[in-house]
Amino acid sequence: QGIIEVENLTRRFVSKRSETVALDNVSLSVAAGEFVTIAGPSGCGKSTMLKIVAGLTAATSGKVHLYGKPVKGPQKEIGFAFQRSALLEWRGVRKNILLQGEMRGMDRAHAARRADELIELTGLKGFEQALPHELSGGMQQRVALCRALLHEPKVLLMDEPFGALDALTREHMNLEMNRIWRETGTTIVLVTHSVAEAVYLGNRIVVMTPRPGRIAEIIEPGLPDD
Ligand code: ADP
Ligand code: ADP
Repeated sequence: QGIIEVENLTRRFVSKRSETVALDNVSLSVAAGEFVTIAGPSGCGKSTMLKIVAGLTAATSGKVHLYGKPVKGPQKEIGFAFQRSALLEWRGVRKNILLQGEMRGMDRAHAARRADELIELTGLKGFEQALPHELSGGMQQRVALCRALLHEPKVLLMDEPFGALDALTREHMNLEMNRIWRETGTTIVLVTHSVAEAVYLGNRIVVMTPRPGRIAEIIEPGLPDD
């Protein structure tokens, strides 16, 4: 039994002109401590699946269980960083990160220490007071990652978290993600359009195809073929 169980998930978007099957009967089980990457071209339903798991949007049919309980609305065990994670425009970097601690009632001193660690880790030192509009898209994304990790969530969901970063920073962040995963035992599900990135990061790679959104293949590197 996985800690995340996705069962026969279907999500349709219907408009006057068309119907899109973003997810077509997708099932997936994620075990504790896994780093699962979901790769595939634009439109294959990666974001939709992650949002449903996070409890941010509903499925048309199918079920998602987190720690054995059906997901209905945002979950406290989950941290998430999405492509366009909204930052509060009137708050500086550090205060945006600390927002997570305020929402979750974390000890202030602990949250502050953790925020400073994460700021250091993600190269945001010197930008603590900067407002989101003063930062590049990539830097905003790093703030969102810090915010997602502040409360040390058991499960971290990420949707193209470093998509806006330059190649070098992206590589650095990927190394960092790998370290965070190994050292904290956080279960991670990360969505990317880059199969190379998915293979580099994941201990299991879910490859999806669009129209309709389906799982084409699940790759487990290191397991011998037979
Ligand atoms: P991916 O993350 O793999 O790019 P998405 O999950 O964003 O894919 O989208 C899957 C499909 O569902 C796409 O065809 C997309 O246009 C459609 N879709 C996603 N969100 C919506 C929405 N809110 N309204 C209408 N169609 C949507
Ligand atoms: P992008 O997402 O636009 O590709 P990055 O977030 O990777 O950019 O930023 C590249 C580097 O440029 C940052 O590490 C930072 O040093 C510098 N930088 C970007 N935006 C700003 C800014 N508004 N003020 C100061 N330095 C910045």
